[in-house]
Amino acid sequence: MNHENSRELYDRALSVLPGGVNSAVRAAIEPYPFFVQKGDGGHVVDADGNRYVDWVMGLGPLLLGHDLPQPVQSSIQQKASEGPMYGMPTEVEVDLAEFVVRHVPSVEKIRFVNSGTEATTSAVRLARGYTGRNKIVINQGGYHGAQESTLVEGDADNPAPSSAGVPQAFAEHTLPVPFNDQEAVTEVFEEHGDDIAAVLTEPILGNYGIVHPEDGYHDFLREITEEHGSLLIFDEVITGFRVGGLGCAQSEVGVTPDLTTFGKIVGGGFPVGAIGGRAELVEQFAPSGPVFQAGTFSGHPVTMAAGLETLQFAAENDVYGHVGDLGDRLRDGLADIVADQAPEYTVAGTDSMFKVIFTRDGEAPTNGADVKNAETDRWRRVFWGQMKDEGILLSQNQFECQFVSYGHTDEDVERTLEAYKEAL
Ligand code: PMP
Repeated sequence: MNHENSRELYDRALSVLPGGVNSAVRAAIEPYPFFVQKGDGGHVVDADGNRYVDWVMGLGPLLLGHDLPQPVQSSIQQKASEGPMYGMPTEVEVDLAEFVVRHVPSVEKIRFVNSGTEATTSAVRLARGYTGRNKIVINQGGYHGAQESTLVEGDADNPAPSSAGVPQAFAEHTLPVPFNDQEAVTEVFEEHGDDIAAVLTEPILGNYGIVHPEDGYHDFLREITEEHGSLLIFDEVITGFRVGGLGCAQSEVGVTPDLTTFGKIVGGGFPVGAIGGRAELVEQFAPSGPVFQAGTFSGHPVTMAAGLETLQFAAENDVYGHVGDLGDRLRDGLADIVADQAPEYTVAGTDSMFKVIFTRDGEAPTNGADVKNAETDRWRRVFWGQMKDEGILLSQNQFECQFVSYGHTDEDVERTLEAYKEAL
């Protein structure tokens, strides 16, 4: 495959963008990130005209694939042509808020922002403002965006910034615990219960190889947070409007969080985030409450239209059936290949999420450490060395999740399974 144009673009990018990219993980594709020219259904075409089956799907926002159906496209175009934004309220943000409130029972009110990071930052501030407490519990291997309170590693006894530039004073208020570990959570509540503003968790870890919750884990988090007057925040930036359809992953795990953060799909491919939950809580945001929260672009009309039309299209068409079926076929096919050729690996995922994890013992990971201990280095060789050349685009590393869209076809699944068979 020829990558001349991508190489030249990368050279230019390196002299004006740090690392040649605008987001940390994008440079991981080897030998250099390929620059995308355009999307097409379930495919992307790179700057040299090479075509790939695309399982990255924008890192999650593109539930419908790259070709947006007509009502979604024309609504976006109309909003953009009327003037992109105003800094004042418009009807479409009320429409999208009503749609989310109608479909997600835990959400009575919602504030739209511009990214998942902004959503989790604001949710943490809200939890602290509402409870008058400072500490938050997060999961090792969870990801809540590039923000000071969650770029924290280590454990609850020794939390430390995971990035330069994050003050230790922030990390001290963050208590990382392993996912699925009820005992660890019990211990931090025994020690810090009166200081814990919230437990912030992904219903399914989606940025660390896909790790599923064990039965009862989220029920347990619900109980212990209630007992101690702390909030339970589900970060559904990835799982929202993906797992469990329009009811989101919380409908699947059967637990009602106090607050939910959204992103990705709810903006239909445009920059978005949102914080939803019980009215009494969301009302804590200014101007109705004392927790300051604001943004020039928040509730952007083009984004709101794209999100609303995307979700409405999913409600009226068999989008979740289609992506779920293809997801099942991929996961089943991959499980057969793995059982045959690499029984030490595991296949994870649900609905439209899937991933092969290079575990060493064939045991599905139960927390971040299990994924970290996998043969993560193989990714480079197997996938950048082989799958990409077969025209199959997978996520940048062992940790990021892969997504099925409405634009994918049976043939995409078959080709992908063939390529995995060869590569593994
Ligand atoms: N939370 C979760 C669960 C995420 O997966 C992500 C992004 N992958 C974020 C928060 C941050 O969202 P954004 O990249 O839009 O800031």
